[in-house]
Amino acid sequence: MLDAVRSAIKELGEVDPRDLTDEELSEVVVEMQALRDAAHAVHAKVAGLWDARRVWASDGAKSGKPWLARKTRASEAACGSLLWLARQRAAMPVAAAAWDAGEIGADHLNRLAAVRNHRTEEALAQDEALLVDKARTHSFSGFAFVVAYWSQLADPEGADQDYLDRRDRRRFSFDETIGGMWSTQGVLDPIGGTIIATELRRLEHKLFEADWAEAKKRLGRDPHLHELARTSDQRRADALQEMATRSACVPANAKRPRTLLTVVVGAERFAKLLQLLSGAVVPPAAVVPLLADADIEGLLFEKTGERAIAASRTRSFKGAMRRILDVRDRQCFHDFCEEPADRCQGDHIVPYGEGGMTAQENGRLACGFHNRDRHRKRPPPTGDDDDDEEDDGDDP
Ligand SMILES: [Zn+2]
Repeated sequence: MLDAVRSAIKELGEVDPRDLTDEELSEVVVEMQALRDAAHAVHAKVAGLWDARRVWASDGAKSGKPWLARKTRASEAACGSLLWLARQRAAMPVAAAAWDAGEIGADHLNRLAAVRNHRTEEALAQDEALLVDKARTHSFSGFAFVVAYWSQLADPEGADQDYLDRRDRRRFSFDETIGGMWSTQGVLDPIGGTIIATELRRLEHKLFEADWAEAKKRLGRDPHLHELARTSDQRRADALQEMATRSACVPANAKRPRTLLTVVVGAERFAKLLQLLSGAVVPPAAVVPLLADADIEGLLFEKTGERAIAASRTRSFKGAMRRILDVRDRQCFHDFCEEPADRCQGDHIVPYGEGGMTAQENGRLACGFHNRDRHRKRPPPTGDDDDDEEDDGDDP
């Protein structure tokens, strides 16, 4: 039977993809992913049984992982994760059945396994069918979001402790090399990392705009990315330097920016929501230390969670109006995009210049790409039509 599979794959490999239409190419790309998942499911099932029977022991191997790595010339890490997944599979029968049926993939099983521990296994056994159902129907990030909240509810103390443990692992090193260069390495906790990433991205964006303007002037046309004076890595390095320079200029008694916590009231769909604008789900323990020194604002949503009770006639989505979009939409509006709120702009559905209100019904989050993309498709602006102005002014 394996021979038949092998020759079918070989035959498929001999098709020249350049002979396919766009639709056929899309179909093959999607279908191949499903086949790969199906093969992965069977592989994990068989490998699990092989491992449980300790077939590797007859060759004197210590465990299945090194035996498999030696035989297949794959990395031990890859073999280890296959066998780990095989064990998780055995512990989650509903998820395993859905995987076998091609309804979910290994990533879903991995995500469920990541929240399975001795404190949650009983609750997980109860809710497994419900979570697997979310895996069947939601995008992967939507599913991951549900799982993150589920694990907080199933194991609140564990989630807090887990967060604190991870936070304790934060570190940052910054060392001069022999050649006089500087080398950095580190791991940051979700909140600290988000603060740094947001500011770094903001500065980097300004440098990008400067590079773009310079290249446009030099070439007399819109430049390609490789024609900019700096690579994005170089701009990020320069942004970090700029961050330090700015920090050194700030007087010691300057007012520090305060964390803004948004408390959402009224809508069931936001119940127990605790999330950074980057999309990361954090437990209560992450927020407690911020409470003493944060601004707290309330957003009152109607019961369905679609509409907050507020409106304004300003030119761009700023302040509370922007927060409503952030909390309501959480990511770019585009079907094929999951840029989180903190990388999006407040965007008018009907452009401001065409009479579109700066109101939540006419607002959505759009990443830079999809904002620009929309404007590219429209005829060139005539006069005062600049509703794409960026709203990075007052958001933390
Ligand atoms: Zn987008």
